[in-house]
Amino acid sequence: MAKKDLDTRFSKFGTVSFTSITKTNDFVDYLEQGKVMGTRCKGCGLKFFPPRADCYKCLSSDVEWFEVAGKGKLLTFSKLQYGPVGFEGDLPYAIALADFGDYKVFGRMAGDIPADEIQVGMEVTAAPNTLPNGQVNYVFRKA
Ligand SMILES: [Zn+2]
Repeated sequence: MAKKDLDTRFSKFGTVSFTSITKTNDFVDYLEQGKVMGTRCKGCGLKFFPPRADCYKCLSSDVEWFEVAGKGKLLTFSKLQYGPVGFEGDLPYAIALADFGDYKVFGRMAGDIPADEIQVGMEVTAAPNTLPNGQVNYVFRKA
């Protein structure tokens, strides 16, 4: 049997990808198709974002994809003045956690939202985004 090529699709994610190989590489394909996706455990129904291939609650590996659709409510955010190595060019930007009901999504606020308009409780959607360097990620947009 021929050796399978390494699946490194995740290296395309984010300004700087710290993960090149995962069990959830389809996440990047979905982003390129315009969808932000999480996974749901078929065993116990728990939803995961970022997507997981294995459920920590019931230990099942039988998961299915679902789309992060609808509006989330901003729970908290942080405006960054300093960025990790590789992200300096993106500054300033804000990171946030949004509640989508039975799961939460951590991500970046879209760069075109004025900093003084970002506030806890605001409604957001999660949207795929292509970065200037061709990488893909997702951002929160005002709902
Ligand atoms: Zn489960």
